[in-house]
Amino acid sequence: MSDWGREALDALDRADPLGAFREEFQLREGLVYLDGNSLGALPRRTLARLEQTVAREWGEGLITSWLGADWMAAPRRVGDKIARLLGADPGEVIVADSTSINLFKALTAALSLRPERSVILSETGNFPTDLYMMEGIAAFSGGRVRAEAVPGEAVLERLGKDVAVLLLTQVHYKTGRSRDMAEVTRRAHEAGALVVWDLSHSAGAIPVDLNGAGADFAVGCGYKFLNGGPGAPAYIYAARRHQAAAVPVLSGWFGHAAPFAFEDGYRAAPGIERFLCGTPPVLGLTALECGVDLMAEADMSAVRAKSLQLGRVFMDLMDTHCGDHGFALVSPREDARRGSHVSYAHREGYGIMQALKERGVIGDFRDPDVLRFGLTPLYLRYADMLQAVLTIREVCETRAWDDPRWAVRAAVT
Ligand SMILES: *Cc1c(COP(=O)(O)O)cnc(C)c1O
Repeated sequence: MSDWGREALDALDRADPLGAFREEFQLREGLVYLDGNSLGALPRRTLARLEQTVAREWGEGLITSWLGADWMAAPRRVGDKIARLLGADPGEVIVADSTSINLFKALTAALSLRPERSVILSETGNFPTDLYMMEGIAAFSGGRVRAEAVPGEAVLERLGKDVAVLLLTQVHYKTGRSRDMAEVTRRAHEAGALVVWDLSHSAGAIPVDLNGAGADFAVGCGYKFLNGGPGAPAYIYAARRHQAAAVPVLSGWFGHAAPFAFEDGYRAAPGIERFLCGTPPVLGLTALECGVDLMAEADMSAVRAKSLQLGRVFMDLMDTHCGDHGFALVSPREDARRGSHVSYAHREGYGIMQALKERGVIGDFRDPDVLRFGLTPLYLRYADMLQAVLTIREVCETRAWDDPRWAVRAAVT
């Protein structure tokens, strides 16, 4: 364990190849923002770009901007940019809807490719929307589909002849544990199942190689590490080899082979466009593109190296300064098994997080007792880790968490 002092951390910051990216974000000095895994910070360029899109493209161009400002091409254009971050090819990723809706599309598409099998398998404790969407598909299917969740360590053993599709999140939203995509995909394919990967905590946080892993389908958020803004549209990946046969169950007109032919019958677009449903959210896409462009300027191996180092520094500092304050590490210490956030369980976790937010250290809390600290390499500094941990220590020593204002939990935690 290293004892990180202020000078050592400042030296790390001075040598940081990603250090210049912080200036690209609008972040108030003194704030330590450890929640970029939930809502990424605002890239400065997004403000100017949105101003142009709203005032000029919408305000002046009006409907001519669908072609004149290339709004029509945006879902595919931004999808191709995200594809590069995910180890996918152009034409395999498209931006649309929310992650929840894309889960529905990916799961039903996978089921359509395995008509003789009935089970959607996942792990208990997966992100709730993943489990809820499975349940909804099963409820609607009239007995054709069953949704089943087993503990994470039992998922691979459960793969059998009845499993059509395995749904897993690569980096777990609560623990930060990262799964070996290539190995899990290989095991699922051996058992005849397809895999849908939820990359919400992976894209822009860790290197992803969908095609290297032989992946089938994937989905993920635009508003977390991609810095696309609150409620940014999500993305869906379908491996090229599956696209022609995968049935787009949400068969909206934007996924039609010729939307502006206005035909009565649905004919799916031949490629990834079949996973569009309705009219694209242009303002959200515009903001997302700014975040993705910025992310694309960073070297992903440098991002990963810094993310891991931030995690090691944070955990070392917690050991040094908060070792006696009742925190239990929830995330894997081992680099290879950790994504880009670090979580601790604490009996008073909710109150501690509220007190931290009041002191300008923003993380979040997940039931029942987990404090999450997101580590975003583009805008965090090593010195921020020390400021955060010393603030956590102060909150514990002064019992600032013990406040009647926090007896009842807020609607967003
Ligand atoms: C954040 C997150 C989501 C969010 O889905 P939305 O439809 O955007 O609300 C889904 N899955 C995982 C694993 C997440 O972490």
